[in-house]
Amino acid sequence: MTDRTFDVAVVGAGIIGLAHALAAAKRGKRVVVFDRDAQANGASVRNFGFITVSGQEAGDCWEKARRSCAIWQEIAAAARIPILQRGLIVAARYPESEAVIDAFLASEMGEGCQKLGHEEASKYVPPLTSDVRCALHSPHEIRVESKTAIRQIAAFLTERFGVVFRFGEAVRNVETGRLATARGVTEAETIVVCPGDDTRTLFPDRSLAYGVTRCKLQMMRLEPASPVALKTAVMSDLGLARYRGYADMSEASALKARMDDERRDARANGVHLIVTQSADGSLVVGDSHHYAQTPDPFGNAKVNDLILDEFDRVLSLPNRRVTENWIGTYASADDRWRFTDTPMEGVRLVVVTAGCGASTSFAIGEETIAALYGTQSGA
Ligand SMILES: Cc1cc2nc3c(=O)[nH]c(=O)nc-3n(C[C@H](O)[C@H](O)[C@H](O)COP(=O)(O)OP(=O)(O)OC[C@H]3O[C@@H](n4cnc5c(N)ncnc54)[C@H](O)[C@@H]3O)c2cc1C
Repeated sequence: MTDRTFDVAVVGAGIIGLAHALAAAKRGKRVVVFDRDAQANGASVRNFGFITVSGQEAGDCWEKARRSCAIWQEIAAAARIPILQRGLIVAARYPESEAVIDAFLASEMGEGCQKLGHEEASKYVPPLTSDVRCALHSPHEIRVESKTAIRQIAAFLTERFGVVFRFGEAVRNVETGRLATARGVTEAETIVVCPGDDTRTLFPDRSLAYGVTRCKLQMMRLEPASPVALKTAVMSDLGLARYRGYADMSEASALKARMDDERRDARANGVHLIVTQSADGSLVVGDSHHYAQTPDPFGNAKVNDLILDEFDRVLSLPNRRVTENWIGTYASADDRWRFTDTPMEGVRLVVVTAGCGASTSFAIGEETIAALYGTQSGA
């Protein structure tokens, strides 16, 4: 083998590409990963680092999230990625939300979760406001710092498995057995294209067939005025009305109707609340959802205010300060949360088309590599 010949070539060094590189490398495959940017700069480094199980859509998505979270924990230990928070509190202020929590707990997805009163929930999240009547506690989630974790996973893949990374090389053509960048041709038995929301450069016809568009999210970092420790990530009623693992249940109809009525602006802007905490005590807070083929690049102050309004309804942290704003985008499709396509022999196009790629990546990588090389692991 030369440095231009590999078993598996992966396009994209976001979490989906890294997950495929890991699954292939564990089987002893010689792997190369290409990314057009100097370092991963897409959704995978802009998200909450919130590896979520509870609340994912029932069925395939929830199952993939469970498996991925288990692999995340193995990788975090091996690559020395700190797990900054464990678990989730979904704070509920409305009786309609409590009904959703009860229904969720009665479902298969509620295993290991429980409903807590205000006092018990406050042990996990001390600044919960007195408006919070109860909460869902899920123990299944973990939180990592994405902007460093993604880099650490890439470094780990190189150190442990000899995976080669070619940053700053955009792949402009893929054919069975070979791909081309401005620096020349690389040969590989199989090629897995994980382009995130750039679904127009490689195999645009396939992404068009799946109706892929893009979703823009507004995010911010807050600094509390005095130190606070959130043991878990935090979500709220708007999340119960949006995250499909809750919102798809028939018991969520009353909550959605109430939110549509009382929180019209938030709902129209796809606002719901996720709060995670970084090692320095600052909080990552979001988000909103606006859909377009080419979303505008501007952070709208009114949308940020809607997010902060929800934050203040749930968490009492007076004089918190916004220290950072950013925008992220991910691929989106109306009728599916992901697709894996075979545009030609030995080539796969893998795209997560909902906001759950960080949570489901490693199981998707395993699935693709098993489909290409068989289910027996050579790890
Ligand atoms: C603000 C925000 C918050 C989110 N919150 C969560 C969350 O809490 N939990 C969760 O599970 N998910 C969350 N998500 C979704 C999650 O981040 C994405 O689903 C996931 O990161 C997608 O990973 P990816 O590798 O497909 O895409 P990306 O991270 O976008 O990576 C794709 C990579 O491919 C490269 N690339 C594309 N085309 C080429 C080419 N032709 N040649 C070379 N390189 C190429 C790009 O440069 C890029 O680095 C969030 C997303 C955003 C934006």
